[in-house]
Order: sequence, then C-alpha cells, then structure tokens
Amino acid sequence: MSPDAMTVRLHLRRIRVVDVTVDLPERLEVVVEDTRRVVRCPHCGFRTTRVHDRRRVRVRDVTFGGRPTVLIWLRRRLTCEDCSGRFLEEHPEFVLGRVSHVTRRLARTLVRDVNRLPIRELSRRWGLGWHFIMGLVASWSELVVAERRRRRCRVLMVDETSLRRRHRYVTVLINGETGEGLGVVRHRNSQALSGFFASQGHRWCRGVRVVVTDGSEAYRAAIRSHLGHATHVVDRFHVARWFASALIEVRRRIQRIGPHGSRPAYDPDVFRSRYLQLRREDRPRRGSEEPPRTRPCRPPRAGSRLDPLPAPPPHLPSRGR
Ligand SMILES: [Zn+2]
Repeated sequence: MSPDAMTVRLHLRRIRVVDVTVDLPERLEVVVEDTRRVVRCPHCGFRTTRVHDRRRVRVRDVTFGGRPTVLIWLRRRLTCEDCSGRFLEEHPEFVLGRVSHVTRRLARTLVRDVNRLPIRELSRRWGLGWHFIMGLVASWSELVVAERRRRRCRVLMVDETSLRRRHRYVTVLINGETGEGLGVVRHRNSQALSGFFASQGHRWCRGVRVVVTDGSEAYRAAIRSHLGHATHVVDRFHVARWFASALIEVRRRIQRIGPHGSRPAYDPDVFRSRYLQLRREDRPRRGSEEPPRTRPCRPPRAGSRLDPLPAPPPHLPSRGR
C-alpha cells in the first residue's frame, strides 16, 4: 500500500467494495458487489443462493474528489432452486439503461442539473447518451406530476397554448396557489378538460374552490359539469385584451365612417388616436396644451379580488368633428 493511501467510503446502501482497480488522478474504478447473499426469484418468489455466473457491469457514479468514477458491479446471474429459472439480480442503488448505467444519486444530480444546463452539455460532461438523460428526466417528471396531482388543489388555472404555432393546441393546468404545473392535455376543447377532471377523480374535483380560465366557451361546459360548485373567474389578462380589442374596433369604425364627403381617416386627431393606447398617460403629449394627466396610484381595496381599473380612457374625437 502506498504511504499516502487512505480509506474513503462510497456511502452506497447494500454495496461492498471488492477492489480498487484504477486509482489515477484523472479517474477511479472500483469493483463492487451486492452485500446480500440470498436473492428472491422474480418468477416464483423462492429464495435462492445459487450463483450461475457473474457479469461486470460498468455503472457511472458521481465524482470522487473531482475524479470521474466508474463502479464495476459484479452482477450475479442466479439459478432458482425451485423453478430452475435463471435471472439477473437488481440493485436499488443502480439505474440501468439499455447501454448506459448510473447510480441513483448520479441520476438525481443529472435531473437537478437539467434545470441549469442543456441535456447535450450534460451528455458531453458525463459521457452519457442524450436519450438516456432525457429518459431519466421524463421518468422523474412523471413522478413529480403524479405527486402534484395527488395533492389537493383549491385554485385551478386553465389556459390554452400551442406547441407548434397555430397547429397543435394543448390545455395547460396550473395550481394557482403554488404555481406548479399539473398537466398538459392535448387539444383545447371540452373533452380534453373533462378527461383531465375524470382522471383526477370526484374527490379531487370537490376540493377545487376557484377555477380561473380565459373565458373560452369550450372549457365552460367541462367546468359546469365537473366543477359546478367552484367559483369561475375570468382572468384579468383576457378581460383587458377584450377591452383593448373592442377599443380598437371602435377607433377603426370612427376612421371609416363619416358624413357624406368627409374623410375621417385623414383627420389628424383621428389618425393620431391610434397611438394613444401606446402612450403612457403620465407623459406630456407633444403639441398639446393640456397639462399631463397623471394616474392616481390607489392602493387596492382590502377584500377586492381585482385591482381597480385604470383611469378613464383618453377622449377620442367623435366622428364628423
Ligand atoms: Zn423460481
């Protein structure tokens, strides 16, 4: 043994270190095996100790002292003494893929790092396949969603979005109190939302107190049949958008329609009115003698669900003026 040698632990459950085969400054390879002697047959449940052979499986682990570490797992193939079937043992600390294998703690590290780095970069750093890492993230996200959906949700937010612009529409469901996504359901119709409510079950639906939507007619039927007891709120963004589009429609009509012989679209006041919506009210208007109007900053009233509406819209010149 070299004079600067020391002993460190792997801190892996039910794992025994058999040998350290490579101990270089740039990498570490450790041969390990399962500490269990008796293994239960997956076919008949009989407990067996008869080892048919051992295979060497390379399992990537987290770095030790900055060194990339590979565990060589002596994976046993056992023969059942009852049904004579042969089977490979499993280990709770290892995640086995088709080609790549990692320890469970490395899998956790990878899933956590996907928040900060692209999968391609992680794949390069760890020498693992892109699809393998993507598979880990997908299986982890399924667990997270199952856990989130199991919990009670009092404020449910529903909206639609398109994955490919104007092509594949999906319905997104969010827990309004925690901000956690509960699911993305294909399509944006009543059946899509009803299917989600049906999968969540009657008890979960009973727990929803408030449901927030964009006012879509398609969702209304599903909400009425499954969440009839909940308060239905139309979200402020969409209300403001409806208001703005109605305002634009009125402005266009004023531009188009005027008394016979007049051309309201060329009236400077009418023409400029389209920019009023883009201008902040507290900025002075160019060429105007009016003093700038400032919007009073009112604190929201206690108990009010919506903030007060902004100050009255700027005066539009009436047609024919
Ligand atoms: Zn058996």
